[in-house]
Amino acid sequence: MLDNYSRNINYLRLSITDRCNLRCFYCLPRQGWVKLPAREILSYEEMLRLSRVAVQVGIRKIRVTGGEPLVRRGVAPFLEQLHRIRGLEKICLTTNGVLLAEMAADLYRIGLRHINVSLDTLKPERYVEITGSDQLAVVLAGLEKAAALGFHPIKINFVVLRGINEDEVVDFALFSRENPFQVRFIEFMPTVSREKWSSHFLPMSVVRQRLKVLGEPQPVARIATAGPAQIVRLPNYRGELGFIQAVSEHHCPSCNRLRLTADGRLRPCLFQAQEVDLKGPLRWGAGDEELGLIFRKAVALKGLGHRFASPATPLDCRPMVSIGG
Ligand code: SAM
Repeated sequence: MLDNYSRNINYLRLSITDRCNLRCFYCLPRQGWVKLPAREILSYEEMLRLSRVAVQVGIRKIRVTGGEPLVRRGVAPFLEQLHRIRGLEKICLTTNGVLLAEMAADLYRIGLRHINVSLDTLKPERYVEITGSDQLAVVLAGLEKAAALGFHPIKINFVVLRGINEDEVVDFALFSRENPFQVRFIEFMPTVSREKWSSHFLPMSVVRQRLKVLGEPQPVARIATAGPAQIVRLPNYRGELGFIQAVSEHHCPSCNRLRLTADGRLRPCLFQAQEVDLKGPLRWGAGDEELGLIFRKAVALKGLGHRFASPATPLDCRPMVSIGG
């Protein structure tokens, strides 16, 4: 699907729940956030139908996210059905990894191979501070199990937080020397509060500078459905490093994504409040063609840039937990 700026929109991020088993301070607001009533959340059948329509209109890659997708009952059979959609070239899952050790074998069996695991520290006490839960050991066990089973690629999402985990930037890079993981350094985005963001935002230029002690990185070529990360490789590393600088450098000119929230709303841009309802028409009996037109309408609404880093821009983003990142 080409948008008004000739970008090919072929990537859908599908949030299957707004529930999460962690409480990361930068993702889930401590106050004022209300879970969706169950009836508002799309059923798996509804999501599968919308995914088929999405493929008909040009989506080639779907990332299943949340909330925490692995807390939704029936996620493995759902993913299995998703893998049966003809024309869908790539299916990925983003998880916090807490349930990965127990679910990895099932997920592998149904055909899933691409996973992203969010992990912001390798220090147990700090893990509790960031997430509100003492789960680092199980997440690491999940990563080990996933690697042993043969998941590939395994990507680690590391949100760099000034004054909190910035001292672990090199440790995380080294983690990808010892393991076949792609460690992705992500700039903290102002989605929960501007104050928190101002206190903890660290530009990617600083991260890259700190990594220079490890040697000269070699860029890795992009593939067509790839996201915004710039990927590099260091000599003799088993894994790779990725940089996602969503704040300090716009990825918008190469954005290829749409987001579908768990309550069935298409979001053309992470940082614009504007959404297009799909659930209403779906539940009122719209046909595939009509639903396809709604996808196209959302694509036509995609803007060319965002200004969310500017203090003058109102914070009109839903928290990440209810969009899916
Ligand atoms: N529960 C899953 C997980 O933890 O990966 C999927 C949902 S989570 C919202 C998806 C990603 O968004 C995670 O990697 C998380 O770290 C990231 N994220 C959440 N809030 C963010 C923010 N303000 N800035 C940058 N990344 C954020």
